[in-house]
Amino acid sequence: MNGPVLEVSDLKVRFALPRKGFGRKPMVHAVDGVSFQVAQGKTLGIVGESGSGKTTVALSVMRLVNATAGSIKLNGSDFGALRGDALRVQRRHIQMVFQDPYSSLNPRSRAKDIVAEPLDLMKVGTPSERQERVTEVFRQVGLRADQLSLFPHQFSGGQRQRLGIARALATKPELVVCDEPVSALDVAIQAQILNLLAELQREYKLSYLFISHDLAVVQHLCDDVLVMYLGQVVEAASREQLFTNPLHPYTWALLSSVPQVGRRALTGTTVLDGDPPSPVDLPVGCRFAARCAYAQAICRQEPPPLRAIAPDHSVACHLVTESGDAPQRPIMFSPR
Ligand code: SF4
Repeated sequence: MNGPVLEVSDLKVRFALPRKGFGRKPMVHAVDGVSFQVAQGKTLGIVGESGSGKTTVALSVMRLVNATAGSIKLNGSDFGALRGDALRVQRRHIQMVFQDPYSSLNPRSRAKDIVAEPLDLMKVGTPSERQERVTEVFRQVGLRADQLSLFPHQFSGGQRQRLGIARALATKPELVVCDEPVSALDVAIQAQILNLLAELQREYKLSYLFISHDLAVVQHLCDDVLVMYLGQVVEAASREQLFTNPLHPYTWALLSSVPQVGRRALTGTTVLDGDPPSPVDLPVGCRFAARCAYAQAICRQEPPPLRAIAPDHSVACHLVTESGDAPQRPIMFSPR
């Protein structure tokens, strides 16, 4: 197929909070109009602080959280509209690797049963074909056949994440959603798992939607990157554009917190002070204005649209010019 493996358009996810007194229930705007595509064999990274909505995007793409609005197309068909058996059958094309390899594996199940679970649920092949697939995928992720009957606690942290990856790959999905898959691991093991994901992608033309708060990890693995802030995309760019020519002040702040990345990308540092505003009571203008050192009057009055300033670079900031010049600090005049 030629089109994108995953196409998400204007995704919105809202949660109602318990009502306090009279009036309407307060709503959490967790994801607010996010659109993106993932091409075959490519990795799209989504980065942002906790509360940015990146994990909610992943969970709604997986149909583990209900979208309030928008569409989710998988291989060109409307995955977001599927229900019941039709949804269960299509799930074999999209699988997930979770952050914590220990808590996402049933401690009472043997490794082979954990990996076979999605095959059994989706009734893929005959029982003997499923067994063969489990052995094959064990080898693909670097686990040994003599480990098939072990329990999760008998694996190291890195091996447990390999087991999580084996479970995700068992049904031969085209798209794997990776939610912070290495953040619970030691640094040395992180590199092994990232290299394994990259090898598997090359070998099997997998597409990844890769959720991370760590820009160094994103730089290692992703072809394109979305930066999310308070439920919205504030910058979308190819990896090269994002790391050599970041334009949004929030992206600068994220890059500044990663020394080896920030030094190359930025001349100075941008410190991120304070917390994001409440996702229940959203500001009228730019959602980043309260923390932005470059904010001007218009920023507090009008939300900046996400504008394309190059074929592989879009940004939502009033002060980025049409030709892609970054915001300049406001000039302060001292009274005489
Ligand atoms: Fe900062 Fe204004 Fe740009 Fe928002 S629109 S990021 S407040 S300069």
